[in-house]
Amino acid sequence: MGFVTRFAPSPTGQLHLGHAFSALLAHDMAQAADGRFLLRIEDTDTARCTPAFEAQITDDLTWLGLTWETPVLRQSDNVDAYDAALMQLGDMGLLYPCSCTRGDIRRAASAPQEGAAMFGPDGMIYPGTCRHRPWHERRHTDAVRLDMGKALDRLADLPQYIETGIHPALRLTRAHLLHEVGDIVLARRDTKSAAYHLSVVVDDAAQAISHVVRGEDLATATPIHVVLQALLGLATPIYHHHRLIRDEHGKRLAKRDDARAIALYRAEGASPNDVRKMVGLPAP
Ligand code: GLU
Repeated sequence: MGFVTRFAPSPTGQLHLGHAFSALLAHDMAQAADGRFLLRIEDTDTARCTPAFEAQITDDLTWLGLTWETPVLRQSDNVDAYDAALMQLGDMGLLYPCSCTRGDIRRAASAPQEGAAMFGPDGMIYPGTCRHRPWHERRHTDAVRLDMGKALDRLADLPQYIETGIHPALRLTRAHLLHEVGDIVLARRDTKSAAYHLSVVVDDAAQAISHVVRGEDLATATPIHVVLQALLGLATPIYHHHRLIRDEHGKRLAKRDDARAIALYRAEGASPNDVRKMVGLPAP
């Protein structure tokens, strides 16, 4: 199997050292394996993504010395593929519409009979209030959720996956998926297109990604992706979750930490190799 990887930023802010590390590592791994490196723009959140951030991202990556194949896949151009995957899961009877707000979920999940509210990869575990609603009754103000119990019933064997990075692969169990992941959102309210978990799975398959290289912060999302791949009949890539770049207080960098934006290091005269050194990568 050839090595194909990708860097998949969301253009909602400037790239910081953490992104530079992720992109450089994926690119280095592809080069070392004589493989391919792709860039994917994950811009389904139209309220927060801007063309200016996208332009800055490609400019920063080029400055860092990265090259990628064109055309670049932009998720906003690919919504039909996500809708098709959503329909496929809907036809399998695994989806339901959900009108709950975050406040509704908090109240229902912390009601005494529900026990203590638990948090999963996407925040509070959904208590199932709308689970009885038929999928075809979705209104445009509804989100769409995966019925995890029904989804697991469809899978004779739970899928497993290989992790080659620093985060141990979770041995997937029904209990983990039901109680610590739950009924995740696959399409958001007020948008026609899919939420992150579905679009990333559809695109990784469409682009024949063999190795997903990404931060450890996304390791808890991987079981969701592996389950969706199994349901949709898609191949599961190898996952490589890498360490996160942290500030001097040990806090992981966020997009709002503009002080560490690549653009600022550039403006101060740093070289691409200086950036490599800062994130602990050898010169190419
Ligand atoms: N778009 C995601 C982000 O910017 C990354 C998705 C992924 O690598 O799977 O955090």
